[in-house]
Amino acid sequence: MAGRPYVLEETDWKTVRETDYSVAVLPWGATEAHNYHLPYGTDNHESTYVATESARRAWDAGARVVVLPTVPFGVNTGQLDIKLTINLNPSTQALVLRDVVQSLEAQGIRKLVIVNSHGGNDFRQMIRELQGTSQVFVAVINWWSCVDAKQFYDVPGDHAGELETSVMMEIAPELVRPLTEAGPGQARKFRIAGLRDGLAWAPRSWTKVTDDTGSGDPAAATREKGVAHLDAVTAKIGEFLVDLAGADIAELYE
Ligand SMILES: [Zn+2]
Repeated sequence: MAGRPYVLEETDWKTVRETDYSVAVLPWGATEAHNYHLPYGTDNHESTYVATESARRAWDAGARVVVLPTVPFGVNTGQLDIKLTINLNPSTQALVLRDVVQSLEAQGIRKLVIVNSHGGNDFRQMIRELQGTSQVFVAVINWWSCVDAKQFYDVPGDHAGELETSVMMEIAPELVRPLTEAGPGQARKFRIAGLRDGLAWAPRSWTKVTDDTGSGDPAAATREKGVAHLDAVTAKIGEFLVDLAGADIAELYE
């Protein structure tokens, strides 16, 4: 039995040789603790699921897209005192991205979309640096912010909270511990007003911010909320992939 043609890890040279793929999708996650109840690979499960389900929708609408294997490490410089958090520095990520782009470029695939699931990853400056050095058009989507999460959750939270717990209940329920085992996900704020209010930004030292590694209370999470959110997200990204697949990248402006 053949694998899904829009999932590179499942497909084969016979299929790839015969398919005129126009858009590659690169899920990018992180390896880090997620409170007591979610796995270290949470961000990887999320970006893989969102990329694959969005690609399925695009494929079914006729777009030839392919999801590349997920990059499992993110920028985690603020969590390195938590055991088995694995950090990939931004400068290393930029080199990984450049090598992926160069591989695609030589093979004639000229559109790449990164589906990012980790708040510490920021690909925009890397994409700016690639612009003009490569013929590949590169775009990035942070999947958690592409629809208004407040439509689906009481308090979404930003790390292992209601949002992430709900989507993981759908994506990988066998890896979610009972919510009675989860910590409250309380995050301490900066003492300085400007840092607290967003006037100034600085990365946080995670073990000083949280007790259970979570930021956001998972107590109100349900699978139903996750299903509704993921459906809205993948419909929107799927539509974007169809539009991008059909676009001439020399004619992107009105
Ligand atoms: Zn996460």
